[in-house]
Amino acid sequence: MIKIYENPASNELAQILQRPSYDFSKIEKIVKPILEKVQRGGDKALRKLALEYDHVELDDLWVTEEEFEAASGQVQDTLKESIQIAYQNIRKFHEAQLQAPTVMEVMPGVTCSRRQVPIEKVGLYVPGGSAPLFSTVLMLAVPAQIAGCHEVIISSPTNRLGQINPVVLYTAQLVGVKRVLKLGGAQAIAAMGYGTDTVPKVDKIFGPGNQYVTVAKQMLAKQDVAIDMPAGPSEVMVVVDKNSNAAYAASDLLAQAEHGPDSQVVLVSTSKKKAEEVNAEVEAQLSKLSRKKIAEKALGESSIIVVEGRKEVLNIINSYGPEHLIISTEKAEKLAEKVISAGSVFVGEYTPESAGDYASGTNHTLPTNGWAKSYSGVSVDSFVKNITYQRITQEGLMLLGPTVERMAEAELLDGHKNAVTVRLNKIREDGISG
Ligand code: NAD
Repeated sequence: MIKIYENPASNELAQILQRPSYDFSKIEKIVKPILEKVQRGGDKALRKLALEYDHVELDDLWVTEEEFEAASGQVQDTLKESIQIAYQNIRKFHEAQLQAPTVMEVMPGVTCSRRQVPIEKVGLYVPGGSAPLFSTVLMLAVPAQIAGCHEVIISSPTNRLGQINPVVLYTAQLVGVKRVLKLGGAQAIAAMGYGTDTVPKVDKIFGPGNQYVTVAKQMLAKQDVAIDMPAGPSEVMVVVDKNSNAAYAASDLLAQAEHGPDSQVVLVSTSKKKAEEVNAEVEAQLSKLSRKKIAEKALGESSIIVVEGRKEVLNIINSYGPEHLIISTEKAEKLAEKVISAGSVFVGEYTPESAGDYASGTNHTLPTNGWAKSYSGVSVDSFVKNITYQRITQEGLMLLGPTVERMAEAELLDGHKNAVTVRLNKIREDGISG
């Protein structure tokens, strides 16, 4: 049974909602030498590390054309159809995120503009250790392709025979990624972050992974590679009221709990009776799950919070900033409008998180650990930079120049002032030219 807290005081609430803190120093001690080996030894080191950690002898670090062809034949047609539907939805929703350039004459003769430019080279990590996460291929490669990144590479660990899961390869082909590296763990991140003789150095690394992957990304982010976002265990907050469907709410809590023993699962209810019903449903549904043991562990650390009304609910949502928020109450839409901190919001009884995890169109790479207060999930924006431009005519500088001169003078930056003054003097001397 999940522990129920009734109307907790604010200090108790803060404790209930506290996320686990991790000491990564032990992992850093393992990851640091891996990064150094790859930086020094390049491809040769990568082969050695694949043997050491994945027990595989790799001749070629890259998936070959023949392997791609063989993979397609190994995926069931019905699964291919589902992946194609998900691909179309994700593509449609992400294509709409591309922005036309902003061009504006902010005052006569002073034109400013801003345009999106793709990040040139990106590396996408697709975890493969315990499950083939082909949905991650869709969620990362689709926005990368839409943004127009010139080089998109994927890295994913192989089995002991040196094979990557065929569904991962089928999905990569479907979205147009031809370069797939057979590497997992910190060494994969190092290969993409530093570059080797055969692996291009990328500008930004994306993707989830285990603690070695996460720590490697964080360590490289302190050097000259960007990363998508800080990662922590996955989270869901489900909100119900007296009329909600307890079975649906329980299924959503369990869908999250099965991710891993450290999954964060919280139910917020304005009805004690409903909270108890959901708890009973969780028990009933749990016994049928194949990942029962994992879910059970996560539920042991989970909480149900019962509060008086929607004001308290909103306060809990916004102070926690959940990665996933499911609002399964009356007037769910109205409550959703008031949410200011959440990675992705699922509105209404028929909107399970699983839909967004796979196929509805939104991205499933979202901020965890309260980062939803300041970070957005992955989108096309994550794969572009915005460059600003300006062009000022002689008339524009005559108009704007004195303002800049005065401000530069007040900041005691003579050089700045002078860069305007020399131009204004010349225009005043010669007059404005045609
Ligand atoms: P993985 O691909 O992340 O890692 C496997 C690699 O770890 C191996 O290739 C190996 O090289 C390396 N490794 C294993 N043991 C090691 C050791 N002792 N020392 C050094 N390196 C070692 O696959 P995984 O392990 O199955 O983990 C998948 C992770 O991805 C899970 O933790 C899961 O929670 C996470 N995930 C998160 C999200 C999310 O959105 N938050 C989504 C999907 C997956």
